[in-house]
Amino acid sequence: IPRPASTPVSAARDFLSRAGKLLIDGRFVDAAEGRTFPSVDPGNGQELARIAEATERDVDLAVAAARRALDGPWKRMSTSERGRLLHRIGDLISRHAEELAELESLDNGKPYSAALGVEVPLAADMFWYMAGATTRLNGLSVTPTVPYLPGQEFHAYTLREPVGVVGQIIPWNAPLLMVAWKLAPALATGNTVVLKPAEQTPLTALRVGELLLEAGLPEGVVNIVPGFGEIAGAHLAAHDGVDKIAFTGSTEVGKSIVRAAAGNLKRVSLELGGKSPNIVLADADVDAAIAGASLGIFYNQGEVCSAGSRLYVHESQYDRVVEGIAERARAIKVGYGMDPDTDMGPLVSREQFDRVSHYLGLRHGPEGGRALAGGNVLDRPGYFVEPTVIAGPDAGHPIVREEIFGPVLTALPFTDLDDLAHQANDTTYGLAAGVWTKDLSAAHKLARRLQAGTVHVNTYHVFAAELPFGGYKQSGWGREKGDEVLQQYLETKTVVAAL
Ligand code: ADP
Repeated sequence: IPRPASTPVSAARDFLSRAGKLLIDGRFVDAAEGRTFPSVDPGNGQELARIAEATERDVDLAVAAARRALDGPWKRMSTSERGRLLHRIGDLISRHAEELAELESLDNGKPYSAALGVEVPLAADMFWYMAGATTRLNGLSVTPTVPYLPGQEFHAYTLREPVGVVGQIIPWNAPLLMVAWKLAPALATGNTVVLKPAEQTPLTALRVGELLLEAGLPEGVVNIVPGFGEIAGAHLAAHDGVDKIAFTGSTEVGKSIVRAAAGNLKRVSLELGGKSPNIVLADADVDAAIAGASLGIFYNQGEVCSAGSRLYVHESQYDRVVEGIAERARAIKVGYGMDPDTDMGPLVSREQFDRVSHYLGLRHGPEGGRALAGGNVLDRPGYFVEPTVIAGPDAGHPIVREEIFGPVLTALPFTDLDDLAHQANDTTYGLAAGVWTKDLSAAHKLARRLQAGTVHVNTYHVFAAELPFGGYKQSGWGREKGDEVLQQYLETKTVVAAL
């Protein structure tokens, strides 16, 4: 993975100097009320760029543009041409990988190496994968039997049509990848979009907006409106002109999206929080489990909804595994995202720093377990915390039960597999899980018992475009990626004809 210089290279710097407008109807424009907000570098607290702030009026304009675009050249474009367009978007993301990775690192704080090596390639690949779906959105041919019309023959078929205008609200933890996960399937299925990036991280979404126009996407098909959740986001979720809302973020805000969407009963898909169990059985390859469990919690500063934040280790391996992860945690170099030596960057914002600090504070006292690594914030500019491993907290403690969304792992031993399965599932969430074992049968049996949208076996954090991703229980509604996501963006129409 290439290592960067620590000052922005010219492409990223050029973008920062022109960034900051809203993309509405194919043009970059100022906000209707003229408001702006800063995009802040979480590695030093300094302003990177000022961004136009979308408020209700801008969202209205964007929704109207998306509605008009549904009947424009976009509708007439052949499905094959739509596929080629999606391919070009993937190509452009790939061609601008270094610039996008740098903007992502500056805006979010994550190490440049992770942005360049993992997230930009995944984002490009999502468009390439979805390019292949555009020509395969076929319905079924059906020959129905109608019991009350004996002897009457029918011919019926289904059409799969775009839902229409889609609102998409995305978070700050993987801003570019979330743009790709949301836009690629919506476009592959012929919808038009109003996308609201997180207020903490609008930069790569806006840069992708430029690339969409360069690729030849007709005006108004994608509109990008950075702004605050309670204003632009809430207005988009409640908007009568929006046919579907797709949201990724916290479970609490997800519930408010559902309430807002009830006004016109728009379709809703949600990808929400998690508190995912990572389980090491007695016969596991211990070194692989240590490395995988570390990646599972420390990748992206732990700011991953599917982070493996609850570790359960068979008591026979408990000390070895937990000490092994703690040793790795102590060796992680925490630093500025663009510094070539950095393994882990700062948290994204002051608010997020305060949230994680709050949980680190709660661990004091006998029920809070023992910190084998980390446990503290770093005294330096920016929002840095230590990679933390907490052994043996009380199973009912908030650090075991609540989503921290930071680099904080809790570890507990188990002896009995039934008891373990119960503990693993004893959560309001159900996004992901991990199982480490050499026993194939045990792995797949446990996979069936775990209430989680993704179960990793002897691996963690695999985010390929083909794999459906989403949650059981309060981790969400519906699935992203894979073929599963397509139905979230389509209506099925049944046409039935008497012969
Ligand atoms: P976090 O708490 O981790 O910042 P959120 O769920 O608050 O995550 O944010 C995810 C996205 O949801 C962001 O784009 C944010 O602006 C948006 N958002 C926050 N509150 C609301 C709301 N009430 N209605 C719609 N969108 C919101």
